[in-house]
Amino acid sequence: MLTAASAAAGLILPTGGMAVAQAASTASSTAQAQSGNAEGNVGYYRLSVGDISATVLSDGLIGGPPRIYASNAPEAELEEVLRQAFLPTDRLTLNLNTLLIETNGRRILLEAGAGQTMGPQGGRLFENLAAIGLRPEDIDVVVVSHTHPDHVGNLRTTDGGKAFPRATVFAPRADWDFFIRNDPDLSYMPVPEDFRRHFAAAIRRSVEPVTHGIELYEAGAEIVPGLTTLPALGHTPGMANFLVHSGNDQLLLTADLAYHPLVNIDHAWLPGPDRDKDTALASRRRIFDMAAADRLPVLGFHFPFPGIGRMLKTDTGYAWVPANWQF
Ligand SMILES: [Zn+2]
Repeated sequence: MLTAASAAAGLILPTGGMAVAQAASTASSTAQAQSGNAEGNVGYYRLSVGDISATVLSDGLIGGPPRIYASNAPEAELEEVLRQAFLPTDRLTLNLNTLLIETNGRRILLEAGAGQTMGPQGGRLFENLAAIGLRPEDIDVVVVSHTHPDHVGNLRTTDGGKAFPRATVFAPRADWDFFIRNDPDLSYMPVPEDFRRHFAAAIRRSVEPVTHGIELYEAGAEIVPGLTTLPALGHTPGMANFLVHSGNDQLLLTADLAYHPLVNIDHAWLPGPDRDKDTALASRRRIFDMAAADRLPVLGFHFPFPGIGRMLKTDTGYAWVPANWQF
């Protein structure tokens, strides 16, 4: 994902050409969203998968120019799709839906979240953890789907220590080789060079406290009974999806196969940050087909909170169907 604070100024598309009425409505909707409720809303959502209890824990928001997440969309069509969805046309907001699962006496966090690595609206994970009565030291295992900053950012405390002091951290081996063991060539990213440097540095800085003792996995491996990783390569060299399963129940976590259901599912535009776009597209189709055929509940890491729904196969592709809120 792509929206470091340093990029926020440089990457936002200019709004000078926008119609006055639309600029005004964007500004007012933004103000409304920000002021919405002075007390705020909860950032956690409980569910269960068979015998496994699970909680979506929000780490907040990131975002950026819509073009980054829909790299091959015709400009006018992209704007129209956003407008019809009552979304701003100059910035697409993405959520950070980490998932805590509790199984066999262990607490396992799936994705660490962004922290402040990609802008000031991330980093809510710890307050949401506290809201369900847990501290960082209560986490036994952290598994990341890939090592982009918005998935590893919270591994490091502000003073450089381990944010989850007791946790064993699992990361995909191919990502570790590409981003951390080597100097990654990020020229495929449709962003300025200084953004790429910031991005690579944020990854190395975030994982530095956990480098000693890191557990590297191959996508496809079972991490613990009830948690299997699935290869979902292309976005990064090693990206995995997660399948949480217990009895007949399953929950599929699609990581960054899609950033926002509107532009990557309902419209099948390609995320700009996909390193190998053909491989990523093949992964997306294979996993979306499986999700649709098996009617799997799906959690999208970047989808509107809590990010849970199902994938519907349509005549032309797929459609995202959000799940009803469960009390
Ligand atoms: Zn991401």
